[in-house]
Amino acid sequence: MTRSTGRAVVIGAGVVGSAIALELARRGWDTTVVDRGPGPGHGSTAASSAVVRFTYGTVAGTAMAYEGASWWEHWVDHVDLPAGTALTTFVQCGMVFFDDPSGLARASAEVLAEVGVAHEWWSVDELHRRLPHLATGSWFPPTLVDDPAFAAPAAAELGGALFTPEAGYVSDPQLAAQNLADAAVRAGAAVRVRAEVVAVERDDRRVRGVLLADGTVLDADVVVNAAGPHSTVVNRLAGVLDDMRVSMRPLRQQVTHVRVPEGAIESVARHPATADLDGGIYFRPDHQALLVGGVEADCDPLVWLDDPDAFDLELDAAEWEAQAYRLARRIPGLGVPHDRRGVVGVYDVSDDWMPVLDRSSLDGWFMAVGTSGNQFKNGPIIGHCMAELIGAVRDGLDHDREPLVVRGPYRDLDIDLGTFSRWRAVTDEQRERGVLG
Ligand SMILES: Cc1cc2nc3c(=O)[nH]c(=O)nc-3n(C[C@H](O)[C@H](O)[C@H](O)COP(=O)(O)OP(=O)(O)OC[C@H]3O[C@@H](n4cnc5c(N)ncnc54)[C@H](O)[C@@H]3O)c2cc1C
Repeated sequence: MTRSTGRAVVIGAGVVGSAIALELARRGWDTTVVDRGPGPGHGSTAASSAVVRFTYGTVAGTAMAYEGASWWEHWVDHVDLPAGTALTTFVQCGMVFFDDPSGLARASAEVLAEVGVAHEWWSVDELHRRLPHLATGSWFPPTLVDDPAFAAPAAAELGGALFTPEAGYVSDPQLAAQNLADAAVRAGAAVRVRAEVVAVERDDRRVRGVLLADGTVLDADVVVNAAGPHSTVVNRLAGVLDDMRVSMRPLRQQVTHVRVPEGAIESVARHPATADLDGGIYFRPDHQALLVGGVEADCDPLVWLDDPDAFDLELDAAEWEAQAYRLARRIPGLGVPHDRRGVVGVYDVSDDWMPVLDRSSLDGWFMAVGTSGNQFKNGPIIGHCMAELIGAVRDGLDHDREPLVVRGPYRDLDIDLGTFSRWRAVTDEQRERGVLG
């Protein structure tokens, strides 16, 4: 018997949209996910460093990331694809977060304790013992490479580090989205690629469907905006921007790949992911290389985009230099590579760097947007939360007055979706501390 609870269209087949499509299809929705790109996961998902960490400033954000990691731990069962299908993997190498004068690692530990995330404090001696190749000086605050302070001896030592053993990274983020999209198809969804939404069909109160560039109209009871850095462009098509207190802006981002010379670091592949806010970078292993990204240090210029499609795909030399030299200072045995390698991508940044996971003023129009460079890890659990929200609103929940709390199925943690409301007030403290590390 075919059962359908309604017609749903998801705009965007990144890790978020593909996960939403899978969860909706498994709940009986007649689901279509559309993407203007050549396949699932070719947007920001493809450029993602895919670090899975738990260091967020809010209880809801931390609970979501901790629950979310369980999806990666149970990936094979979750996607349930035929034997022989290439699957992404979760490398649970742990994560160290250096304790620097900003105090963010200590603030994070408090939230981890409140949520019940396993963590340890390493003294600086312990840090030396575990990761002897690291320089443990503190140069805080981060500086540009041509600043004389960059080459000066460290003024102090790091205070130690916060270690979360269950953190890690996902080996192939684009494949993760592909796995989710394939699972969605097995659950009955349709995936349409090279299919761009160019208009939204609506009446005064409700969304009715979407118009594709090739002239096809897809009728729908529910439409979900999961368009990544195009989220504002797509929300504008639906006419829902006036009702939002949180806005989104695309931001260009660059990640440097540093090949590790043979023998320079033993077992690079198992090196923990590392948040070095003291030095202005994060890094994580990638086979015999390290990926190095920026952490939006005050000295680093941010490249905001007016148009999410208009950005330079070439590596920026100054940014590459900052990341490579900062890593070389932290791991002196590494040196600076001769060749420039890396990837360029775009974040969909919200005012407080937290996502908007919500309904909108237009009935039937939902949003999973503003992922702000830190929600790859949560793609699968966002799928779960959005499908729960869409079902609850269909069944009559007034989410705006009584926000849905979703119980995580793996760790029994409550995730208050009110935290991710489009109406939340954004304070300076949230802006600073919403996303730690
Ligand atoms: C360089 C970089 C490093 C990152 N590192 C991490 C990390 O370490 N850990 C972490 O958790 N997160 C990280 N992130 C963030 C994470 O990758 C994103 O939050 C996540 O991938 C967003 O997924 P998405 O599905 O929302 O967006 P996307 O992957 O961008 O997918 C959106 C899709 O919508 C499609 N689309 C847009 N407009 C339309 C339209 N009109 N019609 C049809 N389709 C449309 C696009 O083609 C695209 O495929 C990083 C991001 C970048 C760029």
